[in-house]
This record gives sequence, structure tokens and C-alpha cells, in this order.
Amino acid sequence: MRIKNYPVTVHSVKDLADSYRRITFHSPEAVEALEGFPTEWVRIWVPELGSAGGKIVQRGYTVTGLRKELNEFDLEFVLHDIPGAAGEWAKTVDPGFELEISLTPARPKIPAKCRHLVLAGDLTALSAINSWLGYADELEAEKITVLLEDAHGSSLGFPQQEHEKVTSWKWIEPTPVLGTALAGELDRILQGEPDAFVWGAGEKDLVKRLRTVIKAHELPREAYFTQFYWIFGKAFA
Ligand SMILES: Cc1cc2nc3c(=O)[nH]c(=O)nc-3n(C[C@H](O)[C@H](O)[C@H](O)COP(=O)(O)OP(=O)(O)OC[C@H]3O[C@@H](n4cnc5c(N)ncnc54)[C@H](O)[C@@H]3O)c2cc1C
Repeated sequence: MRIKNYPVTVHSVKDLADSYRRITFHSPEAVEALEGFPTEWVRIWVPELGSAGGKIVQRGYTVTGLRKELNEFDLEFVLHDIPGAAGEWAKTVDPGFELEISLTPARPKIPAKCRHLVLAGDLTALSAINSWLGYADELEAEKITVLLEDAHGSSLGFPQQEHEKVTSWKWIEPTPVLGTALAGELDRILQGEPDAFVWGAGEKDLVKRLRTVIKAHELPREAYFTQFYWIFGKAFA
């Protein structure tokens, strides 16, 4: 079946922190189709890097700040140094730019018995983590732990959704091997936690390290979900 594309227009651009930018989009059609569940993401179609011929490519971004009444939603972009189509587009785009997005309706499921939700990832997972926290009232989990590996730390104004179920939000300083510090922290959290649900996303090797810890703790298949969001040194087509 052909995936439907929706026209969207860039409404505004705002820098929230160092190399972290929120772009607000306007689109009655897309907003009507978006559901607002945790981690909901879209594929955006942006000009291919260096392409003069109008070729476009797609990249995944997480929906945050869905405002149905205004026909608006936000995406937040890590403005990474190594050039990529989406990152460069986000660095230079102005309000009024028109593009298309498509939707990916993959809703995560958490078993009712999971009382402790552990959200782990890098900066690309921040929007998804905030989307979980925006939905926390409706989750059966009694407590939520956030583990974010990023060199910026928390002091620079990154958006951090608050909720009373969040018992710990840790910004973890990376070590030279991506994801090692994060995986170590996850290992510590999972000691003696039989009812945890782990959600993890970010760079591929970082996510693999999370999976190794999850496996070592023998979490049942329904008690975790992990996803690669980007690959170090490679375009994520
Ligand atoms: C479901 C899903 C949801 C996502 N949500 C978000 C989101 O909300 N916000 C967000 O910023 N990203 C998000 N991502 C990740 C984003 O799609 C990737 O980072 C993507 O590779 C960026 O595309 P690009 O065209 O800028 O770079 P690419 O062309 O894919 O890559 C070019 C180069 O840039 C490097 N690179 C790519 N991303 C990063 C990065 N974050 N840091 C450092 N180097 C990088 C690559 O390793 C490569 O060397 C999500 C991905 C998925 C699959």
C-alpha cells in the first residue's frame, strides 16, 4: 500500500539550547492524522545534501507539542556537526518553507505488570522521552527513570518535561566508547527490578549496548523496546 504524504509548512524556528532547535509546523491534514501517543514519529522529506536536482530524502523525527486546536506540531532537531540532509536543512530553514511528511503509526505497548518505566537514550531520544512523560498520567507505571547520555549535560536549557512519577532524571557524561556509561547506569538500575519496562533509542552501537544489558537481566520480550535512531559515520536512509 502506498504511504500517504501530508503537506506541511514551517511556521517558526526556535533555538532551545546549544545545537538543539525546535521547528514548528502548520498542517491541518497532518495534525488531524497525528494521534499524540508516546514516541510517535514522522518521516520528513528534505532536500538531499548537495543535490541541485531537487532530489529529496526522508529522515525520522519525533512529534512533540501537538496542538490540535492550532493545527500545529513541533519537531526538535539535534544540529549535529557532520553534515546530513535533515540536520543541514534544519540549520538554515525559514518560516514559510513547504515540505511533506508521512506518518508511522507504531504505538508502543507496556504490559500492565511493569511498574517501573526506564527511558534511556541519547539526545535524539529527548523528544521521545518527553513524549512518554507527557503521557505519564495514563501509564500504569508508578515510577519513571530517565537516563540520557550526552556531553552537554542538563544545564543548557534542553526541554525537560516534568512529572511526579519521575523519581530520577540523569544526564550521563559519555565515555570515549558511546553508550558504555549509559549501559552501566542501566545495569545498576535493573538490579533487583523484576517489573521494569525499558525503552531505549539513539545511536546504533549505544542501543546495542543497552540490549546487552537487557539480555543479561533476562527481561522478557514484552518488557523492553529499543530502536536505532542514527548510525555513527553513516547516513540513516
Ligand atoms: C523513529 C526515529 C525518531 C527520531 N527522532 C529524532 C528527533 O526527535 N530528533 C533528532 O534530532 N533526531 C531524531 N532521530 C534521528 C535522526 O533521524 C538521525 O539523526 C538522522 O540520521 C539525521 O539525519 P541527517 O540527514 O541530519 O544525517 P544523516 O544523513 O543520516 O547522517 C549524516 C552524518 O551525520 C551523522 N549524524 C546523524 N545524526 C547525528 C546525531 N544526532 N549526532 C551526531 N551525528 C549524527 C551520521 O553519523 C552521519 O555521519 C530519529 C530517528 C528515528 C528513526
